[in-house]
Amino acid sequence: MLGPTVQDFEQRFAAYCETPHCVAVNSGTSALHVALRCLDVGPGDEVILPAMTFVATAWAVRYVGATPVFVDIDPATRTLDPNQIAAAITPRTKVILPVHLYGRPADLTPILQLARQHKLRVVEDAAQAHGARYAKRRIGSFGDIACFSFYPGKNLGAYGEGGAIVTHDPALAAKARALRDHGQVERYHHEFEGYNYRMSGFQGAVLGIKLKYLDAWNAARRAAAAEYITRLSGTPGLGLPLLDDDGMESVFHLFVIETDNRDAVAKQLSAAGVQNGLHYPIPVHLQPAFADRQHRLGDFPVSERLGQRCLSLPMFPELTETQIAYVCEQLHAARTAGSQLRGMPTAAAH
Ligand SMILES: *Cc1c(COP(=O)(O)O)cnc(C)c1O
Repeated sequence: MLGPTVQDFEQRFAAYCETPHCVAVNSGTSALHVALRCLDVGPGDEVILPAMTFVATAWAVRYVGATPVFVDIDPATRTLDPNQIAAAITPRTKVILPVHLYGRPADLTPILQLARQHKLRVVEDAAQAHGARYAKRRIGSFGDIACFSFYPGKNLGAYGEGGAIVTHDPALAAKARALRDHGQVERYHHEFEGYNYRMSGFQGAVLGIKLKYLDAWNAARRAAAAEYITRLSGTPGLGLPLLDDDGMESVFHLFVIETDNRDAVAKQLSAAGVQNGLHYPIPVHLQPAFADRQHRLGDFPVSERLGQRCLSLPMFPELTETQIAYVCEQLHAARTAGSQLRGMPTAAAH
């Protein structure tokens, strides 16, 4: 395990992210866990994170015994709403954990400003955003630590599980290196409780090769997103992702639209051979696993509405213009059929 292919990949990925240090681990969830351990987050501490994310963001907070404090997202960017963070900060808050959801960087400038003001650390969940840019710079060097996943479906995927942290702080990198390998600072010297979170040499070799193609794949995803947006913009009642803002480049891990009648539309798309998905139908604050936070429907209306209306259209680098045209055509047909059905009384209506 570990070995030269992993070391080589770490160097390449650090350079790619424009950060000095990368520590490879065995999953994105492990990366988040290690990041919070590196920053000594533990019981009694609070971590602010968006209510709409993949559940792993919140698991990491739980693994270190800290309290996840959910905040709603902005409806346009679908990332942590910077205007709602201040109200969630308490004397126990230690970390703000923004998620670059669907490949779009979170609104980092106001987040970093709040962190500085309140002396908080920032951990970026970049599991969906390898190569994305904010203020013209690559995601990874804005917060104290950024966490990546190389799960096969991600923009940069291993042939199995994988993850990494990147940081500009050599002390944090050294601690992460020890944590992933049983807390060893030197062979058989265990300074603190550690884990077996090592990346396998095989995954390091795969990732080192695939990294060379990441920019081309991301460019193809961005082109596909632009094509979708051109074809779908102006459609009444259809929510679309933002393309680019000033200096910001999303890498479109997913292309998530919002529509009424979502379940019926999804079903009809599937019947027409159009692969689709829901990311994510239930926000984390409403998951039974987080019932102890005592949230209820209505607490984070933007996340909840996105959960009810989100629909992920096909998004991968090889997607062709013809395929996008077919998807859009089928989407229009499904939505038209859906809205006609809605006008009719049915037994299931409630
Ligand atoms: C995939 C993902 C993770 C977890 O990564 P794994 O490699 O599956 O453990 C964490 N956060 C987000 C936002 C993700 O999409």
